[in-house]
Amino acid sequence: MDLREKLSILASSAKYDASCASSGSGTGEGRKQNFGANLPSGICHSWTGDGRCVSLLKVLYSNVCRFDCAYCVNRASADTERSSFTVDELVDLTCQFYRRNYIEGLFLSSGIFTDPDMVMEKLIAVAKKLRTEAGFGGYIHLKIIPGSGEKLIREAGLWADRLSANIELPTDKSLQTLAPQKSGKVIFGAMEEVSLSTAENEEDRHKIRSTPVFAPAGQSTQLIVGASEEDDRTIIGLSGALYRKFSMRRVYYSAFIPVGVPGREGMSDPRLPDISGPPLVREHRLYQADWLIRFYHFSPGEILEGAPYLDHHVDPKTAWALRHIGRFPVDVLKADYEELLRVPGIGATSARRILEARRLRSLSFDSLRRLGIILKRARYFVTLGGSFIDRPEDPKRIRRLLSDQDGAGLQLPLFDF
Ligand code: SF4
Repeated sequence: MDLREKLSILASSAKYDASCASSGSGTGEGRKQNFGANLPSGICHSWTGDGRCVSLLKVLYSNVCRFDCAYCVNRASADTERSSFTVDELVDLTCQFYRRNYIEGLFLSSGIFTDPDMVMEKLIAVAKKLRTEAGFGGYIHLKIIPGSGEKLIREAGLWADRLSANIELPTDKSLQTLAPQKSGKVIFGAMEEVSLSTAENEEDRHKIRSTPVFAPAGQSTQLIVGASEEDDRTIIGLSGALYRKFSMRRVYYSAFIPVGVPGREGMSDPRLPDISGPPLVREHRLYQADWLIRFYHFSPGEILEGAPYLDHHVDPKTAWALRHIGRFPVDVLKADYEELLRVPGIGATSARRILEARRLRSLSFDSLRRLGIILKRARYFVTLGGSFIDRPEDPKRIRRLLSDQDGAGLQLPLFDF
């Protein structure tokens, strides 16, 4: 099998990891040779924490896997074409793509084709060779293979910018049903190891500045939504714990793509739910809830307050405000930062701008709009020293008016990495 065929198989096998949204996107047959056509599958675009868009070569080292996770195209029982790279092939491929300006980095995972330590060693060997022999200074994201040892995880962090161990399913019960060879304990153990190594590395670097940095872009994980029975409350609670305990940079949510969706034929497994399409709205609301935890100082418990699922018709910040309508209107001329953050339509940046601007000049609703406040949303929740656009009287009416504006109050760069 030539390298082009391997790339096609192993990039396609990697594309369901949520960290890169556009990986493997299709190109019309007739346009394949044209200038501007998509590169062969395997190039995905991601956004860094500072908002830069970068392109990554996103591939598996091998799609041969001994595990049989029901939701995965590469599971042992799936009837799919198999292939594996060698370390040298992947290093050459990455360097060639990088030199041609196709990519700025590599996102590398693998099926578990042999003992987890040996698989992890291969991924490390690719990253190490890229850094030490090829002089590759681009971004590297390595997956941690479940079950690989602490020493290997520590070594991986010396060559990679980011590490990730996918939790995939929210509870041990679901893991046992859908991914019986995986264990939450093992996956959390890997996350803990990354978190401890990061903390130790920071201490060491504080003492000796020349200490090599460990995984400077931190760690992330992915949760599949809708393949198992857990509700949003369970998922949000788990995400909150992952951010708190393991200093996770990002939790990615990936809507389960059911059997029968074009491109996923042959995925049938009786353990999976029979749903008509991927729960994309649910995934979107979970990203919005996640945003509230990370940037709006909401606790996981506040977001749902006992309800099992997020409201699909309004974003979770608006849903919270409607449940607490007695706390509104907030006077934009007097409210502190935390109060402003809770107002639908006012983001973290616009809250800071309000505080700054009101020290220097008087504010009007027009000037609020110029500061970035989304007034079509905020209008029901704010007053300007007693002046209203709309009084927040009936939460049901406001909910109806704001329904399906779909996240307009939260600007989400969904995919950083
Ligand atoms: S371990 Fe599970 S999720 Fe990972 S490649 Fe193998 S079957 Fe797929």
